[in-house]
Amino acid sequence: MAKQVVRRRGQRQVEDVKWNRGPADLDVLQSLVTEMLLALGEKPGRNGLLKTPERVAKAFAFMTQGYHRDIDHLLNGALFPIEYDEMVIVKDIDFFSMCEHHLLPFYGRVHVGYLPNKKVVGLSKIPRIVDVFARRLQVQERLTVQIAETLKSKLNAHGVGVVVEARHLCMMMRGVEKQNTIAVSSSMLGVFRSQPQTRVEFLKLIHQGSVGDSD
Ligand SMILES: [Zn+2]
Repeated sequence: MAKQVVRRRGQRQVEDVKWNRGPADLDVLQSLVTEMLLALGEKPGRNGLLKTPERVAKAFAFMTQGYHRDIDHLLNGALFPIEYDEMVIVKDIDFFSMCEHHLLPFYGRVHVGYLPNKKVVGLSKIPRIVDVFARRLQVQERLTVQIAETLKSKLNAHGVGVVVEARHLCMMMRGVEKQNTIAVSSSMLGVFRSQPQTRVEFLKLIHQGSVGDSD
């Protein structure tokens, strides 16, 4: 029985597939989760699972809300003209994202640096830009590049560097089952790419101890 439901749904989805840029469709998500529970051999009617489809639908809508956030709207009023030509760094930005291959979380830290060109962005906006791209189905490499290219173009910066360090549950819980592996990706644009000393300074600064660290 369960298999038939899944197969019918699968066929309909393929035929009807549309690029949906609107908010997540909670009703469709809920019924898909119910079918997934059936397909896993579970009983969606049992007590512990009664509200699971609703909870999962809401959780996925939250975790993919970045599709519906607008960067220009986010940066509105947060760009300031300034005569400052030293590197700006915001490091250890926590993020949580979802791997698009397994729909499992990957999470870790983002370090961002840029060399301003007569314009800086309010520091609190950088973690929010990270969230816009992290709260989507992602691969780590694309997340890294999207953050870097967005900052480079919106700030017209001389250069941008982004380093992402992440643990992937799809590696930790299945597949190679490596618990302590951290994947590192980086994107270096402008002078961060063309000038080795700028890149080295950035990498040195992001690996220095944090404010308040005793060592
Ligand atoms: Zn994965």
